[in-house]
Amino acid sequence: MKDKLGREINYLRISVTKRCNLNCSYCGSKRITKEKELTPEEIKILVSAFAEKGIKKVRLTGGEPLLREDITEIAREIKSIKGIKALYITTNGILLKEKALALKEAGVDGVNISIDTLDPEKYHELTGVNKLSAVMEGFYEALKVGFSSVKINSVLVRGKNDTEAERLIALAKKNKADVRFIELMPFSEQGENRELVITEKELLERFSYLVPLKENEQGAAKYYTADGFSGRVGFISPRSRKFCKDCNRIRVLSDGKLKPCLGNDKTYDIRPFISDKNKLSQIIDEVILNKPVSHHFEDGDFFRGLNLIGG
Ligand code: SAM
Repeated sequence: MKDKLGREINYLRISVTKRCNLNCSYCGSKRITKEKELTPEEIKILVSAFAEKGIKKVRLTGGEPLLREDITEIAREIKSIKGIKALYITTNGILLKEKALALKEAGVDGVNISIDTLDPEKYHELTGVNKLSAVMEGFYEALKVGFSSVKINSVLVRGKNDTEAERLIALAKKNKADVRFIELMPFSEQGENRELVITEKELLERFSYLVPLKENEQGAAKYYTADGFSGRVGFISPRSRKFCKDCNRIRVLSDGKLKPCLGNDKTYDIRPFISDKNKLSQIIDEVILNKPVSHHFEDGDFFRGLNLIGG
């Protein structure tokens, strides 16, 4: 369905847990309170209600979604819902090697893997764990099992890992995978410091051999290629190139709250209405219709902890 601004909302992101096995400094919060996560049955009811409103694409995120032991069951249930055409997962990749095939067989179409550096020591420093080799094994396993899309998401922070861009881009040259640079957002003290943000413009000046692709008309990511590249290089730039006018997303948090905008504090608790189809339908209608016009990062409107929101 469309919101008041005429934006077609057809993409649902579900955070299935707040828990994470990494501790990335830019992500923000360490305040992970115990919560009752949505069950596969509850997720199925919610996604079915959203599918009736025109949601076609679903992404599972977190926290770290692969920490859920029932993640393949959740995936299978979602993919069986009428109207859901595509299902993706965003993961840090640590548990991906062992789960990739089961996820593929459960109907997951693609994975986004977060990798901010290819240097094992730097990875340890940035994430708090020494697990880059497990992540890379997960990445190659994802390519092997044949997901229709494998993407790497990287957040560059000036002075921390900005020198890693070239090596990360080389992954898109060698592999049938996209490498996307996400501008640092203000979900932590680091992200509030504008000077640490590496912008799309800065990277395009540095890698001037990148050529824009035609499919850039709409959406969050702008894609580029270069001679001899198997994959694409993408830029997601919520700070320097705001894409709110094309936003087609809505989010459900791991505790059953509906969040219509990543950059806006407002949430709506829909869990109490899971057993009331009409009420659930009515709330979803209202929330989608009144989706905020845009984020306000530039006004200092900051929230802590992307792991709590679901990135
Ligand atoms: N655990 C999964 C993962 O690592 O991909 C999913 C959750 S994580 C919060 C989703 C994405 O948010 C990751 O790609 C991460 O790099 C990104 N992210 C976290 N904090 C961010 C920030 N302050 N600015 C931009 N991206 C951020």
